[in-house]
Amino acid sequence: MHKYVIMGVQGCGKGTQATMLCQDFDLIHISVGDILRWNIKSHTKLGARIKRIVAAGELVGDDVIEGLVRRRLDEHDWNYGFILDGFPRNGHQAVFFLESYDIDAVIHIDVPDQVVVDRIMGRRLCVKCGTDFNVIMHWPKEPGICDMCGGELVKRVDDTEDSIRTRLEDFHTKTEPVLDQFRKKELVVRVDGTGAPEAIQADIRSQLGLPGLEPAAPAG
Ligand SMILES: [Zn+2]
Repeated sequence: MHKYVIMGVQGCGKGTQATMLCQDFDLIHISVGDILRWNIKSHTKLGARIKRIVAAGELVGDDVIEGLVRRRLDEHDWNYGFILDGFPRNGHQAVFFLESYDIDAVIHIDVPDQVVVDRIMGRRLCVKCGTDFNVIMHWPKEPGICDMCGGELVKRVDDTEDSIRTRLEDFHTKTEPVLDQFRKKELVVRVDGTGAPEAIQADIRSQLGLPGLEPAAPAG
């Protein structure tokens, strides 16, 4: 059983790293952001509530988020463990979590602010099929056009430099103290998130004492 929390500012690559770990160790990726988005898309009662809160320019309260995490973990579909992503985000949520659950480690993916800004500002999304491109790391073959479907590539509306700086500020003031709370229990593993995804994954596994990545299968 492996129970992890993965932390890092938006754009640090934690989704990619969580997916790689989940695939090889049969873990369940529990992303609070995904659960919130699913509720909004599926027009659930909670989704309507979240929409109202966000429309009013407010943050979804700790009670809502904590209830959602508790219900998700209570499903117990994670026979081999889980990776919790997007929680806890502040001191209150961390206290709730540490009182209620035992975890094995917190994986902190550390990326300098400017790298995050460059990555997010370089992000493009296909309007037709939703594929993510990055004009720094993953160039489309033709500028502005999706490799997969030929659709138009656009920036996400919330990817402005201002909103990214706000998210970074939020992470430093509210989420980084959570890392200190976890550190008191000696649970934090820090990795440098600026390298290639495979190198970051290898670092995570070696620090967690997990078996390494399988070499890629030869083509054909
Ligand atoms: Zn496309």
